[in-house]
Amino acid sequence: MIDKDNAADIADFRQRLLAWFLQFQRPLPWREQYRPYEVWISEIMGQQTQMERVAQYFRRWVEQFPDVASVASASEQAVLKAWEGLGYYSRARNIQRAARQLLDAGLPDIPADYDQLLALPGIGPYTAAAILSIAFNRPVALCDANIERLFARLADIDRPLKQAATRKRLAAMAQALLDPHQPRHFNQALMELGALVCVPRKPACNVCPVHMHCRALKNDTIEFRPLPTGKQRKIEIVMACVILRYRDRFFIQQRLADDIWGGLWEFPGGRLEEGESPRQAAMREIAEETGWRVRQLEPFQTVVHHYTRYRVTLHGFIGELKIDPPAPLLTAAQQAVWVSLEELEDYPYPAGHRQLVAALRRVKFPESR
Ligand code: SF4
Repeated sequence: MIDKDNAADIADFRQRLLAWFLQFQRPLPWREQYRPYEVWISEIMGQQTQMERVAQYFRRWVEQFPDVASVASASEQAVLKAWEGLGYYSRARNIQRAARQLLDAGLPDIPADYDQLLALPGIGPYTAAAILSIAFNRPVALCDANIERLFARLADIDRPLKQAATRKRLAAMAQALLDPHQPRHFNQALMELGALVCVPRKPACNVCPVHMHCRALKNDTIEFRPLPTGKQRKIEIVMACVILRYRDRFFIQQRLADDIWGGLWEFPGGRLEEGESPRQAAMREIAEETGWRVRQLEPFQTVVHHYTRYRVTLHGFIGELKIDPPAPLLTAAQQAVWVSLEELEDYPYPAGHRQLVAALRRVKFPESR
């Protein structure tokens, strides 16, 4: 078992872990050169998102925005479009705000300074530490969810991870084990081991390079580590929206900037009120948000998507306008446009509306007269 006060134990742990990492690490694109800008983008994309998905988006992003200056000078819509599908869009907006802030301060790239990093939008203490250690190889300990689980097993911690005392203990452990000569590789090795071997369910202890240091393995308590906490129930949300068509064009509106998906585009709609059917909600929402009355709505498609603790069911209806409508009220949007079926693809949407756009593209509409 690993003894954090025993230098030989720690040296053995580091050596085994690093050797494993050098052989088995995933070939992630930002690991090719460890450019600070790229490490920053990968860290922000990696928040709440699986690594394989991050790698896909990351490649497209750096092709379109290869450096701080290119993000800073891009339109917000281009930035949101490049992020479309990754969720938590405030992350993309923060990257752009941070890029502009850096250039305003005369900094052409992401800095190697903790306080300067913390002053940038979207960068908290964990991300600042990750950038310092991974991009700049500085000896700063990290403790993300994968590392916490790994440590809970290595030290067989029988306390909930969220408790302040446990957090302190985990942070002390991360600091004691950190290899000061190779912090970049060491921190990533811990994360990689947690992601690939010491996984939440059924860890692969038979191929674990540090199994001889694992207290939970010895005590046969792995299935109880980390100590399970009560499962959070998903919160159900039901929404309805209207896909309005007038002469082969579709109506979409851009959400208010300070909204949860601020800046993204959508079909007008919203949550069902108590006792309402999806169709009634769709009728009410279109009237409230645009001022238009639509006499007939046809069910189009119902889509379901999940984010954090929410399960969202979105009922999409199609409505046809027969006469040229007056300007919309826009009570829940900053602007609106009428676009063709092909042009719908050019706008960034929240997940449910994006699914509806994809479904629309598969429909053959009769030509309007
Ligand atoms: Fe995790 Fe198993 Fe390795 Fe222990 S031996 S650190 S439980 S993979």
